[in-house]
Amino acid sequence: MHITGGRHFLQIPGPTNVPDRVLRAMAAPTIDHRGPEFAELTKAVLAALGPVFGTGGPVVIYPSSGTGAWEAALVNTLSPGDRVLMSETGHFSTLWSELAGRLGLQVEVIPGDWRHGADPAEIASRLAADERQEIKAVCVVHNETSTGVTSRIPDVRAALDAVGHPALLLVDTISSLASIDYRHDEWGVDVTVAGSQKGLMLPPGLGFNAISEKALAASRAAAMPRSYWDWGPIIAANQRGFFPYTPGTNLLYGLREACAMLAEEGLPDVFARHQRHAAATRAAVRAWGLEVLCADEREHSGSLTAVLLPDGHDADEVRRVILDRYDMSLGAGLGRLAGKIFRIGHLGHFNDLTLIGTLGGVQMGLQLAGVPIKPGGVEAAVEHLREAAR
Ligand SMILES: *Cc1c(COP(=O)(O)O)cnc(C)c1O
Repeated sequence: MHITGGRHFLQIPGPTNVPDRVLRAMAAPTIDHRGPEFAELTKAVLAALGPVFGTGGPVVIYPSSGTGAWEAALVNTLSPGDRVLMSETGHFSTLWSELAGRLGLQVEVIPGDWRHGADPAEIASRLAADERQEIKAVCVVHNETSTGVTSRIPDVRAALDAVGHPALLLVDTISSLASIDYRHDEWGVDVTVAGSQKGLMLPPGLGFNAISEKALAASRAAAMPRSYWDWGPIIAANQRGFFPYTPGTNLLYGLREACAMLAEEGLPDVFARHQRHAAATRAAVRAWGLEVLCADEREHSGSLTAVLLPDGHDADEVRRVILDRYDMSLGAGLGRLAGKIFRIGHLGHFNDLTLIGTLGGVQMGLQLAGVPIKPGGVEAAVEHLREAAR
């Protein structure tokens, strides 16, 4: 069946739906990126980004995917052969570890079961065992988009501090920034990695590094080969409102608008909205009699929920039915979770009724695909939203 009326529901956990205000802001003529109007744009965007990352330090913007910003964080702060400690939280942490290995870093991975976040106690014990302080960076994915589990970054910071280890703390916030509470400066993060296409409500195409003073100092000694990703020339050109190479001009128009929208709503309210929608989604999943993948109550993601299917049911078939019949895209299980879970994105440009529509499509699709569920999920979510509004 081919659905023609209404809008497609893009409920994957990124790229997310782009608000009309942002689309309109981008639909403007591209300007001279070396002219005075551009300098004003750069300055406005950089000023607006600081609060979003929770930093008073520099934020570097790349015309890149999030993967580029991962690479940038590593090549600017490390030297060939340096040891880095990574926590396996799921598919994305695994990709970042593999990238680090290909760059010639010695990667030590703390294994995980893809249902929990990074374990601060295990990080502390690995660092305590590193008496010669050879580990130069600890890398953690804040919100593991493949599992819907959010790691507790303040506890990871406390783990580094407790053993007095000088390693840098590098954090991937690609699917948490502007959706889940995050504070680069206050939490003592050295490099925060982000991308445009998730909580920031933009199309794909921008990558970000927020940089601490300690990371900036480390970058002066870091010997990894780098050119395109080098922070130095970008930060220097940004002072005057420019970039060393052609930036993503129209995406920057969109970024300025998205930051304005976040400021109007207020970040605490943005985070609370995401938590409320995540909790309502879990209420629905449990009412259906299904299981949420995240196994720790402290680590449920505000951006997405991963739903486990009962044995013998294929999550990709459920997603196919939902796309065909209801014109809604849901996230697939990635890596070892392929076919076992689907992921409901509830981040970015999203409200109560988007949630109810999304869950309505999931409930009908599960039934249509023959997955044995109890019918009350949507009602449980409505009930949760009604209670939360009191
Ligand atoms: C989406 C995502 C990435 C990859 O970003 P790309 O823009 O696809 O390169 C990395 N990490 C996390 C946590 C993500 O959600």
